[in-house]
Amino acid sequence: MIKQYLLSPGPTPIPNEVQLAMARTMIHHRTPEFAAVLEEARQGLKPLFGTANDVIIFASSGTGAMEAGVANLFSPGDKVVVVNGGKFGERWLRICRAYGLDVVEIPVEWGTAVEVSAVERALQANLDTKGVLIQASETSTTTLHPVREIAALTRDGGPLLLVDGVTAVGVLSMPMDEWGIDVLVTGSQKALMLPPGLAFIGLSDRAWQRTAETGSPRFYFDLNSERKGQAKGSTAYTPAVSLVFGLCAALKLMREEGLERVYARHDRMARATRAAVSAMGLKLLSPDNPSPAATGFYVPDGSDGDALLDYLRAHMGITLAEGQDHLSGKVIRIAHVGHMGAFDVIVAVSALEMAFRKFDLPVTLGKGVAAAQDILMEALD
Ligand SMILES: *Cc1c(COP(=O)(O)O)cnc(C)c1O
Repeated sequence: MIKQYLLSPGPTPIPNEVQLAMARTMIHHRTPEFAAVLEEARQGLKPLFGTANDVIIFASSGTGAMEAGVANLFSPGDKVVVVNGGKFGERWLRICRAYGLDVVEIPVEWGTAVEVSAVERALQANLDTKGVLIQASETSTTTLHPVREIAALTRDGGPLLLVDGVTAVGVLSMPMDEWGIDVLVTGSQKALMLPPGLAFIGLSDRAWQRTAETGSPRFYFDLNSERKGQAKGSTAYTPAVSLVFGLCAALKLMREEGLERVYARHDRMARATRAAVSAMGLKLLSPDNPSPAATGFYVPDGSDGDALLDYLRAHMGITLAEGQDHLSGKVIRIAHVGHMGAFDVIVAVSALEMAFRKFDLPVTLGKGVAAAQDILMEALD
């Protein structure tokens, strides 16, 4: 047996406290006992979303909450602007098209953030735009989009701003009320340190109003019926009871660490990882607007990133993430999200250096590790 290190951007490692909470004996979901658990989870989510409004919990993967946002807020034919800078931007696009929306796409080169002025121009050219859809952290390209600046364009009577925050909520501060984000979505298997299976969606007041006026067909993902039920302690359909137990435990861990410390930890791990791969002479995938959730970098010319990843997994027990689509084989992504810390960064970088040596790629053992250590030392008293 070889010890496994799950350093992917989702699913992510699960703390023992969360595992144990999920092992709790099953209870019925239409009981005061479950209502209390659900209420604890609902309240615990609000600081993460930076909202005083309800955050709705669905039993689905993160994409379910993305679909819920589209289905509840737009009618077929509505015009929306979609920022597409990677696999998840593409997902917004496909959901919007599936719902018959009139999509104005802003294509963004992979590894770069959208220009705020490009969104501004798209809105000026399409005054009937009902919504803007974007990722906060585009996980596939390890890039952060300027959500706060875009919210400044859409708030106060502009189109609704729907933000896929799946590798942003719990990683960096995403105060939706303060910034004027209308819809913020995340899933359980990234920063929330849970298994896959829960999706979360928060709505602004004006987004809730819009749900009453729009006409896309919806059933399971009906936000209003969930809102009524969840406020009274029950979900419309059978909830993922064990995952909600785990959620309460995960939220407690985050509260105990303190959200500011959680965000600072992610920022530090990200800076350390970037410093390490840069010290190894590798080119960052997203040098200008990197995500604090994961770091992508190009493998040396002529080498095969996927072969390196296979080697890391099979011989070293280390799971990192691959490049997608046209970056397949050219890029590797190291995640630093959720239940991860300084020594996960060290493990990832050290293993990468050893795999480079094994593949006869240029590397000085320890050089990347030392660069990471320099930054990770910041957190030591
Ligand atoms: C993981 C992820 C999702 C959700 O994917 P699911 O597989 O449906 O959970 C959505 N957006 C981003 C940016 C992600 O990283």
